[in-house]
Amino acid sequence: MPICFEVPPEILNQTQMARMLAEQVMRSISRYYDEHEHERPWEYINVIWPFIQQIEAANLKRSLRRNGAEEEEPKEKKRSTTHVRMIHMIEALSWGDAGIYLCTPSSALGGAAIQAVGTPEQKERFLTRFTRGKPKWGAMAMTEPQAGSDTSAIQTTARLDPQTNEWVLNGTKIFCTNGRLAGCESDGLIVVWATLDKSLGRAGMRPFVVEAGTPGMHIIHQEKKMGIRASDTATIRFENCRIPYDNILGSPELVRPDEHEEKGFKGAMKTFDASRPYVAASAVGIARAAFEFTRDTLAAQGITIPECAPLHKLSAVQRDLLQMEMDLKAAWLLTVRSAALLDAGESNTLEASMAKVKAGKVVTSITQKCVELLGPLGYSQELLVEKWMRDAKINDIYEGTGQINTLIVARRILGYTRSELK
Ligand SMILES: Cc1cc2nc3c(=O)[nH]c(=O)nc-3n(C[C@H](O)[C@H](O)[C@H](O)COP(=O)(O)OP(=O)(O)OC[C@H]3O[C@@H](n4cnc5c(N)ncnc54)[C@H](O)[C@@H]3O)c2cc1C
Repeated sequence: MPICFEVPPEILNQTQMARMLAEQVMRSISRYYDEHEHERPWEYINVIWPFIQQIEAANLKRSLRRNGAEEEEPKEKKRSTTHVRMIHMIEALSWGDAGIYLCTPSSALGGAAIQAVGTPEQKERFLTRFTRGKPKWGAMAMTEPQAGSDTSAIQTTARLDPQTNEWVLNGTKIFCTNGRLAGCESDGLIVVWATLDKSLGRAGMRPFVVEAGTPGMHIIHQEKKMGIRASDTATIRFENCRIPYDNILGSPELVRPDEHEEKGFKGAMKTFDASRPYVAASAVGIARAAFEFTRDTLAAQGITIPECAPLHKLSAVQRDLLQMEMDLKAAWLLTVRSAALLDAGESNTLEASMAKVKAGKVVTSITQKCVELLGPLGYSQELLVEKWMRDAKINDIYEGTGQINTLIVARRILGYTRSELK
């Protein structure tokens, strides 16, 4: 499949809009929201929302059309550009400010989970709201105090009350991105992973949609963080939280793990296949911000890379600049490939993890190197470079840490199962 570094012409307008917003709106408020952690950047939210509504509407339409096409045989496979479009936009917005980008009102990870495992009726019921009205947020809550990388350890339970035909959720979720916005602002929703039967491990896990303001759902804490401080990260407690029967995504039917080990967890994996290229794109955006600023600052001091100079004639700083540019391009190429595969309707689990690992490492190393090359100025809050270094690290943590994604890559390449290589 041909891969191109350039922005495809059909998505150029949208990417240019994102770049303009990044430069003119996000950069000017970047430091403020870093310092005022739990305030929300409404000047960005209100500007981006009309564009997001259009994207959500197009995504929903495409997804429903795909469902329809799957039912009618033979299926017509039309190449979409949804994910490539999104990574270009996310990269541009994260160049502006990654924390503020995360405040974008959208169905986000919650929407990705609904797209991955919801029925057409559920997609319409839960996702249409993101195409109209006031800004609103979706979120996904998987992580718990005892369950991070090992998601099979989740303790949040979902029990069916046969009297009322409602699911009753109990448990605590931590580090939920946009958890407060999705859980409190009207029309928001959170996809909560809970177990129907702890003894079944991953096979017992199911995603449930909890609407904002549902009684029994309490936002009990907002995290103070090292980076992406504009982003809302919440702890949510579910205490006998009752939701309608139809809010379970996928089938409630349970199968024994030896029959179909990962049935319940498959939805989570599909969600990550879609979201990991987005995290990688965000990482590349932050890395590009730091790289471009450092390159231009050094150029103003007379440090440039001479064309066609042999390697031994370059200074250490010039070599550092070349290495950073190579790493940045490599991470972006992997990101584009992982998104393009998704658009082509092909499996991208390996490529999404590869992109996530590479981009997570590249953004942490490039931003650190930029702080180093700029000397004391790089460490000072006069510039945004120290902030980009703090914003970088999360990309190596959420949506599967660098180590976990490396394990996925190794399993896929070497042909090992989860139990054979852990
Ligand atoms: C700002 C922020 C936002 C987040 N947003 C969300 C969200 O929206 N929704 C959500 O559900 N979660 C979210 N998370 C949680 C995030 O996904 C988890 O932190 C992550 O999955 C790691 O889990 P953990 O923190 O429990 O670390 P642990 O699983 O305890 O891991 C600790 C360390 O051990 C390593 N490790 C663990 N197992 C292995 C292994 N088998 N081999 C090698 N190394 C291993 C890890 O890589 C890590 O370095 C967020 C986290 C942060 C910090």
